[in-house]
Amino acid sequence: MRKTVALRKRDDNSEIMIENSTSDESGMGAALQHIAAQISDGRCTSVRLKDGRATLSLDVSGLEVAARDAMVDRLRSAVSEAAGVAEVRIAMTAQKRTRMLIAVGSGKGGVGKSTLTANLAIALTQLGRRVGIVDADIYGPSQPRLLGKDDVKPGTDGDKLIPVMSAHGVPLLSMGQLAKPGQAIAWRGPMAGRALEQLVDAMWGDVDLLLVDLPPGTGDIQLSMLQKFKPSGAIIISTPQDLALIDAARAIDLFTQSGVPIIGMVENMAGYACPHCGEVSDPFGIGGAEKEAIAMGLSFLGRIPLDSSIRLSSDAGVPPAAQGGSLADPFRAIAARLASWLDSHEQDMAST
Ligand code: ADP
Repeated sequence: MRKTVALRKRDDNSEIMIENSTSDESGMGAALQHIAAQISDGRCTSVRLKDGRATLSLDVSGLEVAARDAMVDRLRSAVSEAAGVAEVRIAMTAQKRTRMLIAVGSGKGGVGKSTLTANLAIALTQLGRRVGIVDADIYGPSQPRLLGKDDVKPGTDGDKLIPVMSAHGVPLLSMGQLAKPGQAIAWRGPMAGRALEQLVDAMWGDVDLLLVDLPPGTGDIQLSMLQKFKPSGAIIISTPQDLALIDAARAIDLFTQSGVPIIGMVENMAGYACPHCGEVSDPFGIGGAEKEAIAMGLSFLGRIPLDSSIRLSSDAGVPPAAQGGSLADPFRAIAARLASWLDSHEQDMAST
């Protein structure tokens, strides 16, 4: 006997018809599984049909609550319309995702670490990666402002934070969101570590790369991160002058001693082009970070010029990488180098 299973996709109202050549429940179950896999983008891994009850296994790893609930609704309504189905049960499973962490560090404050992090996240998102930002800079949490999400508090799901989505497609969580506006964040040791844990261990959904904007130096946050969430690699940013470089060398040393590879160094605020006469001068010198990188056997990822437009657009919540044009170029070039490091790192991980 031939039996027809007719299923309707709720969102576009299109109908999928499956002809099933067998009337037994196991054959029906297989037909239902085919459809359920389509509706769930392959997340429905099995469908069993017994005595009119369809039991589905759904892998909801990495889905936001709203997306998960919508998928469950779609599946339930589609399967319940199939002939021979009286009841639908959906068992949700979640595999722990391996999410890569990349630390962005500096020896000193004010050298452009947050600016670099925000622009790299945007440029990598434009390259098709799913990137989130953890702003762990307790001394100057500036990512909410840089990404145009000042004053927006994250929601919660149970005891987990839900990152705030920015207009540039980059979700973020910041130490600044855990404190009252204007309040000094005076956390030491365990408290700082717990705050970091809340930010990293949040509902990041399908984000597969977190850029962590670290506080300058080699303090409690760095140590907590190295103990609990060892990053896959670190990027160090410095201005070209000696003092900043000496501090950067300390930050590099901390990561290296902890077995975290240094992906490379970035030089910021080199080469100031006078907006009036166009003459290029170098208030902080030029090439210092590149020379230091070479001397330490590290890769040099690129140089960002000193340009007041970078500050103005960043302060306005629209970082240069989101705008395009020549100001975006140095950030995009650095992001492309980071992306190729990530590709080769992922290949290495897959082959071990
Ligand atoms: P950090 O995170 O290292 O403390 P920030 O990224 O917050 O540094 O940068 C400090 C200040 O310098 C900000 O006002 C930022 O807009 C500005 N800034 C950063 N890089 C540049 C640059 N290349 N040209 C001009 N201003 C910059």
